Amino acid sequence: MMKKKELIPVELSLFEDLIKDTNNLFSQVSLDGIITYVSPTILNILGYDQKNLINTSAFNIIHPDDHQAIHSFCTNITEPLTFRIRRKIGDYIWLETSCIMVNHHEYIFISHDITERKVYEEELREEKEKYRLLIENSEDTIGIITNTGFFIDINQAGKRLLGASRKEEIIGNSLLDYIVQEDHELLCQYLSNPTQPMEDPLEVSIQRVDFLQKNVEVKLIPLYYKKRYTYQIIIRDITNKKEAEQMLQQAEKLSIVGQLAAGIAHEIRNPLTAIKGFAQLLNNMGQKEYTDVILTELNRIEKIVSDLLVLAKPQLSNFQTIDLQELIDSVVTLLNTQAIIYNIEITSLFQLANPLVEAEEDKLKQVFINMIKNAIEAMPDGGNIRIITKENSENQVVIQIIDEGVGIPEERISKIGEPFFSTKETGTGLGFMICQRIIKNHRGSIQIESEVNQGTVITIILPQNIK
Ligand code: ADP
Ligand code: MG
Repeated sequence: MMKKKELIPVELSLFEDLIKDTNNLFSQVSLDGIITYVSPTILNILGYDQKNLINTSAFNIIHPDDHQAIHSFCTNITEPLTFRIRRKIGDYIWLETSCIMVNHHEYIFISHDITERKVYEEELREEKEKYRLLIENSEDTIGIITNTGFFIDINQAGKRLLGASRKEEIIGNSLLDYIVQEDHELLCQYLSNPTQPMEDPLEVSIQRVDFLQKNVEVKLIPLYYKKRYTYQIIIRDITNKKEAEQMLQQAEKLSIVGQLAAGIAHEIRNPLTAIKGFAQLLNNMGQKEYTDVILTELNRIEKIVSDLLVLAKPQLSNFQTIDLQELIDSVVTLLNTQAIIYNIEITSLFQLANPLVEAEEDKLKQVFINMIKNAIEAMPDGGNIRIITKENSENQVVIQIIDEGVGIPEERISKIGEPFFSTKETGTGLGFMICQRIIKNHRGSIQIESEVNQGTVITIILPQNIK
């Protein structure tokens, strides 16, 4: 120690006690960066000898990336500077340094080794970044809401789910702004009661500003954040899962219907053959007026039975060019007899005359029979059924069947077309579903518009076979 003391320059001898504190690292550097003194504590930490450093440029051992910072620091010594310095074994340590200028020609640096703190800070930063990425890249919406339900933060997935382009559009809004009214109560139960643990996520529907609805699962986890009682919120989009579930259900039902239809059709076919045989026998015996009627009716039943079989297995299709006007006229003639009984008049208007479509005649007939029958059944007190055939801007044929019947309440419209959905005592609830199938096979579509007690408009759109 005594020996080294001799090396301490004049200015630093004043701080002798400070120098002995191993936490303080002293050095003295000339204005042009030449080291004139280093304290033993520095030598200790860096592993160099005096002779390695004295009279060499400090920049030799300062990390190249920190040179600029050192230059600016020396011209404006206000805040302590952190920089890296190379040890003899080749690695860098972090120093935090304050600087004093003495006699206008030298700097005294007083430094602390802050490597441990830096490493810890870096680890913390990496850890923080890791979690940030985990949250930002999560497929689920993750956010923080106040205990009254207002968004404080939300991740990328949340932005997408709620249909915002920037986080700021959501932050400050209430979660309830995005949830359909019916589900508010369910959520509020939890929001107002942070001590109530949420075991299973809540299934609610989200209503976005663009009116898109989504089925989601919401989980709220109480969180003490920035000295406030908040919730971490996790929202999982289960719309696709729900749709898949529903499709599966529908597919399952359809397969049952198919099997059922096949069974029924076979059951009916055998007695039909026998009845037809006897009717023909009676015909030969001279009861023509009656047997003709019986035979015509039997033929019709036979056809319907065959149509029912379509559901069970796809049959060889027999598509041909059909004149829709002729087809509709024949269906109207058929159903007029029934309509008259109910005091109903069926009129058809062809704004587009003799439109041609590629179709299976029987199937298409079945569709119109079904639709007109539904219209008749919707008008127990009589009225008018209008059938309008026209063309849309895409050259498709549009056929509208317009009745003045009981109508369909809005919430029920989506149910129509589901197998077995019927409001009639003797209804099967299969008609609409079969029609939808047939029209879909013809690359067309069916729409329903209805107003209770005003009537219903069924719109069928079919691709036109341009003449
Ligand atoms: P079904 O006629 O055997 O009941 P459908 O599938 O043909 O079966 O029709 C399903 C249901 O849709 C009907 O029971 C009825 O409630 C409703 N519906 C269909 N068409 C009309 C219409 N034109 N007016 C009012 N309700 C209708
Ligand atoms: Mg029907």
